[in-house]
Amino acid sequence: MKAKTIDYKTLKNKLEKYLEKDELEQIDSAYKYAKEKHKGQFRKTGEPYIIHPLQVAYILTSIKADKETIIAALLHDTIEDTETSKKDIEEKFGENVARLVDGVTKINNINVSTDNEYLTSYYKKIIVGMSEDVRVIIIKLADRLHNMRTLYALPHEKQKKKAKETLEILAPIAHRLGMNKIKSELEELSLKYLKPEAYNDVVEKLNKTKAEREEYVKKMMDEVSDLLNKNGIKHEIKGRAKSIYSIYKKLDKGRSFNDIYDLLAIRILVEKEQECYLALGLIHSKYKPIPKRFKDYIAMPKTNLYQTLHTTVIGLEGNFFEIQIRTYDMDEIAENGIASHWAYKEQKDAAVEMQNITEQKLQFYKSIIELKEDKLTNEDFMYKVKNEVLNNNIYVYTPKGDVIELPKGATPIDFAYKIHSAVGDKLTGAIVNNNMVPLTYELNDTDVVKVITNNNSKGPSREWLNIVKTTGAKNKIKSFFNRTTKEDYINRGKELLEKALRRKKIPMSEFLKEENLERIYKEFKLESLEDIYLNIGNNKFSTKAIIKQKNEAENHEETKPKLAINANDSDILVGDTKNIEVHIANCCLPLPGDEIVGYITKAHGIRIHRKDCTNIELFEDRVVDAKWNKDITNKYNSEVIIHTNSKENILVDIVQVASSMGITVENVNLIYKSSNNVYSVDVLVKDLETMEKFITNLNKIKHVNDVERIMR
Ligand code: MN
Repeated sequence: MKAKTIDYKTLKNKLEKYLEKDELEQIDSAYKYAKEKHKGQFRKTGEPYIIHPLQVAYILTSIKADKETIIAALLHDTIEDTETSKKDIEEKFGENVARLVDGVTKINNINVSTDNEYLTSYYKKIIVGMSEDVRVIIIKLADRLHNMRTLYALPHEKQKKKAKETLEILAPIAHRLGMNKIKSELEELSLKYLKPEAYNDVVEKLNKTKAEREEYVKKMMDEVSDLLNKNGIKHEIKGRAKSIYSIYKKLDKGRSFNDIYDLLAIRILVEKEQECYLALGLIHSKYKPIPKRFKDYIAMPKTNLYQTLHTTVIGLEGNFFEIQIRTYDMDEIAENGIASHWAYKEQKDAAVEMQNITEQKLQFYKSIIELKEDKLTNEDFMYKVKNEVLNNNIYVYTPKGDVIELPKGATPIDFAYKIHSAVGDKLTGAIVNNNMVPLTYELNDTDVVKVITNNNSKGPSREWLNIVKTTGAKNKIKSFFNRTTKEDYINRGKELLEKALRRKKIPMSEFLKEENLERIYKEFKLESLEDIYLNIGNNKFSTKAIIKQKNEAENHEETKPKLAINANDSDILVGDTKNIEVHIANCCLPLPGDEIVGYITKAHGIRIHRKDCTNIELFEDRVVDAKWNKDITNKYNSEVIIHTNSKENILVDIVQVASSMGITVENVNLIYKSSNNVYSVDVLVKDLETMEKFITNLNKIKHVNDVERIMR
């Protein structure tokens, strides 16, 4: 049960493998210093206290921690538990080491009485400690790992409390930092103390099947190794123990032990990225892969920078084998994450490099910084860290395949702001898995999300503050509104109104007439013209509502009874995305060859209008680029009006012209019977070119004066 005890010599043997001689001398003196300071102190396990910092340093050698980190690990409890000050350490071991020890101490040293307060401010310090130097949290993780290994010495109640805390906060942080080896051990130890029965159940089941599994794995490894050797791919191949905790989680979700196919697992290490794919191809050609189990985390790394190819194949005797393929470099990152940067000796300042990568590439870190800036109470801060950042996450993809990490319940607005505040500010619509969705849509794991932005967008709506899930999005929306002053709103409102009036060809003087303004003041509970501008400018009322004209795109479409044929989704590109669900607008009935735009409606996804359709002018900020695809198979509705100079019926001639051209006539009506008959013709036609020829040919019919393709 007891962890293996090591002495300083064991630690030093490890350190000698990767540190310089002068560095080792400084570590020697740090060890002596710590030993002296902790003299006469004992741990709950009964061992001399120095064993603990020694073990923490030893754990850190497994990730090749730098000299400063090792020294800080040896000294990490001196400020807290002995008469040593930060200044003492700074004088003896330098500023960096002192800062690290102080950081770790701050995390531990909390003097609040109630449990809840204790926990929240404790957690907050861990998290904030990380923002100063990621090495602080790495030392803390090693410290916690050793404490978990020796948890047996504590009373049950304390064991459970530590285990829960480890599972909720420290293991997820290790995971986000990519430190998989430490994460797995933390999870396993937590489970052991939190749910001993479940833990023992998994261990027992694994033991019972061990011999058999090992035999299969060994044979499979030999076969795969042969295959790769024959094809000249240099590699190493390993059997891989599945983590007890991950098996427990699957069993907990109701899966049966025999079903968990990744119980038989192997890992292949190669030198170059290209060889990963080569090896995968060879394996798939020999063993049948299981559909949907292949994942390319090389092309699409996880948010903690993990890269590997995953596949599951039917291997020996029909058994499922989970196979992972990666390079040695990827392996280092997969095991040690951010800490792997210590392993690359040529990087002179690995600590600086690690901090940079943490800040720039790890999304959870940015989220934490955003929370930190939000002046929350300790409770709220921790609630959000636990629920928004570290747990309950979903992973969605950009169209390029980048992974974005968001909390459950996040919307396309959260997604847009996570990409960039400028993207969020100009957001007008979102396409999820090729379907137009409302901005309130709740994203799901693995959704592919494309946002539609428009440079004419007036900015976010205040309503979004009630919709978004992430603190980051909320802060960015608030900051947009803070940047905009009242005066800006008034100016913008005035501009928007003038523009809208020009479009509707209503003179400003008409709008400013006393009776019109009175009507508006009354209807919208406003008091002055300035008030009108302000409320248009801040998006409270639309110019449409204020000017109150009925003839706008959506109303118009709803009043027209007949529906245009729906576009084949692949016929139209919205932005540069294919296969988005679109509808053809009934008012202008665009044909392939017409210049088109997409118009984001409130309830019916994207409608495709002709670019010059008069119904869309008013709503510029809801318009997105659209174009026809090259290969179009569908035919589309169009409508022409034929004016004649005779009361002679020419219906038969019209139908003949159409059928001679392969145009489907849906409907022909004599709509105005007089000495000058007028006909309306609905057709299905391939494209604009055909339509134009059709009009030319109709014009050749006797008595025809004029043919017009119409736009309502
Ligand atoms: Mn400690």
